[in-house]
Amino acid sequence: MSQPWNRLSRRQLLKGLGGASALPLLGAMPSLAIGGQHAGHVVVVGGGFGGATAAKYLKRANPAIKVTLVEPAEVFYTCPFSNLFLGGLRDMRSIAHNYDELRQRYDVDVIHALAEDIDADTHKVRLSTGDTLHYDRLVLSPGVDMRWDALDGYDEATAEKAPHAWKAGHQTTLLKQQLEAMEDGGTFIMVAPDNPYRCPPGPYERAGMVAHYFKEHKPSSKVLILDAKDNFSKQGLFTAGWQHLYGDRIEWVGLSNDGRVTRVDADNLEVETEFGTRHRADVLNVIPPQKAGWIADRAGVTDSSGWVPVKPDTFESQQVNDIYVVGDATVAAPMPKSGFCANAQAKVVAAAIASSLEQQPAPTAYWANTCYSLVGPNYGISVAGVYRVTDGAIAEVAGAGGISPADAPDTVRALEAEYAVGWYNAICQDTWGTQV
Ligand SMILES: Cc1cc2nc3c(=O)[nH]c(=O)nc-3n(C[C@H](O)[C@H](O)[C@H](O)COP(=O)(O)OP(=O)(O)OC[C@H]3O[C@@H](n4cnc5c(N)ncnc54)[C@H](O)[C@@H]3O)c2cc1C
Repeated sequence: MSQPWNRLSRRQLLKGLGGASALPLLGAMPSLAIGGQHAGHVVVVGGGFGGATAAKYLKRANPAIKVTLVEPAEVFYTCPFSNLFLGGLRDMRSIAHNYDELRQRYDVDVIHALAEDIDADTHKVRLSTGDTLHYDRLVLSPGVDMRWDALDGYDEATAEKAPHAWKAGHQTTLLKQQLEAMEDGGTFIMVAPDNPYRCPPGPYERAGMVAHYFKEHKPSSKVLILDAKDNFSKQGLFTAGWQHLYGDRIEWVGLSNDGRVTRVDADNLEVETEFGTRHRADVLNVIPPQKAGWIADRAGVTDSSGWVPVKPDTFESQQVNDIYVVGDATVAAPMPKSGFCANAQAKVVAAAIASSLEQQPAPTAYWANTCYSLVGPNYGISVAGVYRVTDGAIAEVAGAGGISPADAPDTVRALEAEYAVGWYNAICQDTWGTQV
């Protein structure tokens, strides 16, 4: 019996691929293989934005490719919109996604396990179940890990007292509980990292969402951001929005004003800056420096920066053949480390792998990104970019992106807040096939 994907017309495929990143790939999409034999085995490690998209789009590119997705969690909580949970605008269920659609509709073999080791010479992945998978091509999308050695006094254990909430799930819930337990009149301190890190505007969206929660429930409370840098994404828009919605409730201290935290005392909820200033919090949110998820190290694809250098046109590792890496783990600047980019990169990788399994050249790649942030419930701002390979490196296409206007009326901010919800629903459906 034919499967639903075998009945997809080219037009449906085009529609389903969606997004600016996918369209330029179609002319070079490899033909669908027929018959019972599979056209190669691709193992995908990580079922977040990059990995789940890669698994799905590999099957769409060629249903005859056997695709195995390895992800420990049965339910994935998205970081996008986790700040809205902190602000009281969403519950955790609304940011939860499972793998049923990938299994049932796209015939992806989903294994809930950790990939513990990778042998690139023999093309093998060892799983926490004890099983070993052989791959023809491997996709890694392990996201980020925290650099537990970067901040004196801050490690995995102290993160239970001063949560980072930079991976959604338990950490996010913990931070929310601390905010709820805090007395009115308290101070929420956020320690923000230097670049590069997951989601450049994320800390500043969080500041707005926490300030919103305070405005509604704890009106005498404050937000203090201690930052290891002097500039941040959409800075002018954020600071104007904070002032407009929350007055002086949010204070930001940049690097030049001694904002860089070097020591954390989680027991006493205290932090110390580079020049010895101490700040005491009632709720302490430490977002430490980051690196590629540890399995990338095991695969031998990271460099001394802790991130993964990739060939710009295919996202194959620069260091190890047949391993493709997508998402936050990669060095892909000027593309930001965003869910949108991970999804767009994964589509390019799916097309490149499907082509390489047929000994065809990879199609030309373009990527797009839009980062929406909510400053308040009806106050959205965004920045967008389009990228392509120019002179052997990823470059932003001049004039193709943009940022929300500085002097827009509240009606425009309210519209952007609506677009943000539309974006979230669309990308989750595109990634996991789930309806929100
Ligand atoms: C607060 C916050 C807000 C954000 N808001 C936005 C937003 O509005 N828009 C946006 O585009 N982006 C946003 N982001 C960024 C976005 O979350 C990331 O860019 C995106 O998740 C990256 O996708 P990824 O596939 O690289 O990693 P992830 O989505 O984190 O997926 C990694 C997966 O790999 C799995 N994994 C790791 N190691 C292994 C292993 N050894 N074996 C098997 N599986 C493994 C993990 O369990 C995880 O499921 C936000 C981030 C934060 C923190």
